[in-house]
Formats: sequence, structure tokens, C-alpha cells
Amino acid sequence: MTPRLWAACTLGVLLVALIGYAAVTVPWQRPPAPRADQIAALGELPAEQVARAREFHSALRPGAYGGLAIGLLGALLLGLTPLGSRLVAWAGRPFGDHWIAQAVLGGLLVVLVAELLTLPFAAWRHTVVVRYGISTQTWGPWAVDVAKSFAVGAVIGAIALLGFFTVTRLAPRWWWAFGAVGAATLVVLLSFVLPVVVEPIFNKFTPMAAGPLRTELMDLAARDGVPVGDVLVADASRRTRAVNAYVSGFGPTRRIVVYDTLLAEAAPAEVVSVAAHELGHAKRHDVLTGTIVGALGAAAAVIALYLLGSLGWLLRRAGVDAMGEPRAIALLLALVTLAGLAAGPVQALVSRRVEARADAHALALTGDPAAFEAMQRRLGSVNLSDPDPPPWEYLMTASHPSTVERMAAARAYARGER
Ligand SMILES: [Zn+2]
Repeated sequence: MTPRLWAACTLGVLLVALIGYAAVTVPWQRPPAPRADQIAALGELPAEQVARAREFHSALRPGAYGGLAIGLLGALLLGLTPLGSRLVAWAGRPFGDHWIAQAVLGGLLVVLVAELLTLPFAAWRHTVVVRYGISTQTWGPWAVDVAKSFAVGAVIGAIALLGFFTVTRLAPRWWWAFGAVGAATLVVLLSFVLPVVVEPIFNKFTPMAAGPLRTELMDLAARDGVPVGDVLVADASRRTRAVNAYVSGFGPTRRIVVYDTLLAEAAPAEVVSVAAHELGHAKRHDVLTGTIVGALGAAAAVIALYLLGSLGWLLRRAGVDAMGEPRAIALLLALVTLAGLAAGPVQALVSRRVEARADAHALALTGDPAAFEAMQRRLGSVNLSDPDPPPWEYLMTASHPSTVERMAAARAYARGER
């Protein structure tokens, strides 16, 4: 068997494993949230608030879709013409065309160009979220956040590219096998290391002061059988008015993180409701499941890239000789961008189903649908989310059930519908 045939067979096995695993672990059947309840809930929300949320999203759309279109166009222009390969070659020239310089500096340059193309749209988006009072950041701290994100991406990207092209050089015919294992390992590593290492770069965390709420949250976790080390408060208010909470870490490092904005805004029963939702994610190991799906997907993607590398016309378009050389970085980026776009709606659907299950968990754990519904109302109004977004946008991008869906789920739960 040739390496290519092995690669095709392995890709087939990975895709079957991926689909099989998702079929079994994703809660495809969502808890009831009748449309009649959704419409009733929508009617009860203040009309002015609904109008303002819709206005906010209309204002965001040109920037969001413009950025998406220009980002895609830029990636295709760099990757499917010789432009990207020339950029990479140019970056390596001062270093005698050394492959390490091409891989690291060339990779950074390509990503930087792509980033600069979409930066104006990100800035536009920032002006909108400031105008609507969601973001509290001035341009200085905003720019610092952008630079930090790029730096984090640059470090991870440089390590990944260096590893990838080391393997393609050492094993020109079998790199797909090592690359697949490497990509899967990287996904697992990032999933567990990122929250611990990257979170503190963007936020400060302080243990929640001892008091009735902290005690209640720790009790809730104990009652749920999810061991939690601590309850931390994140200083999100220095950047946003949006409210949120999450559970991160695993085993002894697992902690409940609550935004300080949530504590300032919400009644204690509502904070408990949000924490119960997050405990639902921890209890069903949603992060681990997502990591396994991501790892299988990353391994499959590397093999798919290897197989695409046998398409002569594609390589000629990009002005490169092989998929495994650093000058192909822009081509790799273009293909990954296209795959990400195609996978987006599927990812959103899976995410919505998992979120609906966490909501059901919160309702069952607290037995307090009134507080749950109050919290959903508050989340919707503070974060200015469209309570009942247009169906196409919902299907393409929504990672969570809509506000009215979540309110309807609480009402169905209150009636004893499961
Ligand atoms: Zn969630």
C-alpha cells in the first residue's frame, strides 16, 4: 500500500470515529421549549428592550459580515495565488532562505497580513459595542487586548508551524501520520493548558469573599457531585458590562468563575442558576467531549491537507511544489479557513444542543425555574442579545439557544414537561 492509500484509509476511519462519537455523545434530542411558550415569552419582554437589541444587531451586521467576507477573500487571495508563497519566501530571504525562518517569520507575516485586513472591521465592531454601552474599553486597552491576542496566537502558531515543518522534512511521505498525532495532541494540550495559562493574561481572578453566596455555590457543587476547589471572581468590568460565569479546570483545579459584573447585577438566586448551568457542563464532561471531537477533527484535517497536496493544479495555483514546504503556509491557511466556514453551522448546532442540556441540568439541580427565567431575561437585556434572532443567523452562528427558547424551556420544566 502506498502512503497515500494509507492516508485515505486512516482519514476514513477517523471520520467514522468522529461521526460515531458525536452521534453517541451529543444530546441531539433537546429538552422541550414549545414555540407557543417562546412567543408568549417574547410578548412579555419590554418592547423597547427588544427593539434596542435588534437595532444593536443590525448595527453589528455590516462589520461582522464585511470582516468575514474580507477575511475569506484575503485568505483565498494569499493562498490560491502565488502571493502568499512569495510573502513567505521574502520573510526567509534575510536568513539565507532557511526553512525555520520561512516557517516562523513567514507564517507570522501571512497571519499578520490576514489580521490587518480584518482589523478595521474589528475596530468598527468595537465602536458599536461601545456606543451601545456593552464595552467599557477605551481604544488604548482595546488595542492592548488585540496585541495580546495576536501574541498568544503567534506563540502557539510558531510552535505548531515549527513542529509541522520539522515533521514534513523528516518524513516527506509519512508526515501526515505524525502530523495527525501532533495536531490531536496539540488540541488536547491547548484545551487543558489554555484556560490556566491564558485566562490570567486577560483577567485578574480573586477568590470570592466568604459569605452566604460562596457557601451556597460550594454546597450546590457538592450536592451535584462535582468537586470544585474554589469560587473566583473575574474583573470583567474593566472591559465589559456583559455578565457571565463559567467552570474551568479539572480535578482539584476545577473552579467556578463568576464575572464581577454578574455579582453587581444579578440576585443571588440568579447567580446560583448560572453556576448550576456551568456545573451541568462540568458534570457531563462537555469540555472533554469537545476536546476529543476537536482532536479527531484536527487529525482528520491534517490528513485531508496531505491528500489535497496531491492535486497538482492546486499547488500550481499557490505557486508551491508541495504541501509540506513552508511556502505553502498561505495555502494551508486558506484551506483551513474554508473548512472552518463549512464546519461553523454544525459546530453551532452541537453547541446549542449541549447548552440546552446544561440548562435542563440547572433547572433540575436548583428546582427554581423562576430564578432561571429571571436570569435569562437579565442575560438577554444586559448583553443585548436578540431574544428571537432571524432563523438563518440562528442556524449559521448561534452557539446558545435563544433567550425566548431558554425562557420557554423553564416554563415547560415548571409544568413538569421533560
Ligand atoms: Zn453553557
